[in-house]
Amino acid sequence: MPSRTRSSTSVPTSVVTGAAGFLGSHLTDLLLARGHRVIGIDNFITGTVDNIAHLAGNRNFKFIEQDVTEFLFLDGPVDFVWHFASPASPVDYLNFPIQTLKVGSLGTHKTLGLAMEKRARFLLASTSEIYGDPLVHPQPEEYWGNVNTIGPRGCYDEAKRFAESLTMAYHRQHGVETRIVRIFNTYGPRMRLHDGRVVPAFISQALKHRPITVFGRGTQTRSFCYVSDLIEGIYRLMMSGYGLPVNIGNPTELTMLQFAEQIIRATGSRSRITFKPLPQDDPKQRRPDITKARKYLKWHPEVPLAQGLRETIKYFRSRV
Ligand code: UDP
Repeated sequence: MPSRTRSSTSVPTSVVTGAAGFLGSHLTDLLLARGHRVIGIDNFITGTVDNIAHLAGNRNFKFIEQDVTEFLFLDGPVDFVWHFASPASPVDYLNFPIQTLKVGSLGTHKTLGLAMEKRARFLLASTSEIYGDPLVHPQPEEYWGNVNTIGPRGCYDEAKRFAESLTMAYHRQHGVETRIVRIFNTYGPRMRLHDGRVVPAFISQALKHRPITVFGRGTQTRSFCYVSDLIEGIYRLMMSGYGLPVNIGNPTELTMLQFAEQIIRATGSRSRITFKPLPQDDPKQRRPDITKARKYLKWHPEVPLAQGLRETIKYFRSRV
């Protein structure tokens, strides 16, 4: 049956769930630039039409508005399924805990089923959150994590942990070719101004000369990867022969207080720093061990924070 075979033409077909989101839309752009036909799916729960507006009229891009927790039927061959749909900011998954659990579980089930039906290769967008508040630092892929199942972040962390298990189950039981990327904090144009994550929060506060809200004492650390670096790493993972989880992120680590100061300098802002309570279960430290990405994908991040922030600030300036 033709729908069960991979496309034999030289133009590969990719399905991207969450295509109107921050990462999904950048991934879609990269795939189109590399000669793929792309079918984007999104239900706009946290994605926005602005992120894909520039693709209107592109004959290689088809968009379907759908919740991927529902049955997915697509006509024709599919070569790659990239499962990126999910709320991904702590504020978003606090607002949509059930949708977050459903897209990580049912949505992963439906997209794996699609990949199996089409004999396509499947990539799961997993997350550094599966490490929880990590007791091992930096985090290698072998670390099993420290997650509070019933805490406010549990809906995201456990959904993604389940998604990883389901992905491996489809690989082991049905022979689906699968890839798992664990995405660390990423930033760049197309993040939503009010998604609550630290990068848009600090930049929009700085551009308005309002107080920069550092949570806790600001001693918690994160390591920020520019979006173009991340997407390149993920593309290489899909095209590689490596089937176990791979961390993709930038290992340059800084405290949130240092980050607030850097944003104030980079924007030339008159903002001052104000301290707010630390949210429950906020990880105290996070930095990827990217040994595997270097070894198996020959990948490492290239865009320094200062340069990535310049691009991101330029984007937010036009929107604040
Ligand atoms: N954070 C902060 N002020 C804000 C938003 C976030 O200090 O206005 C901190 C937050 O407590 C966390 C870090 O910045 O330690 C990164 O938060 P984000 O929501 O971007 O994502 P996370 O890495 O926690 O998933």
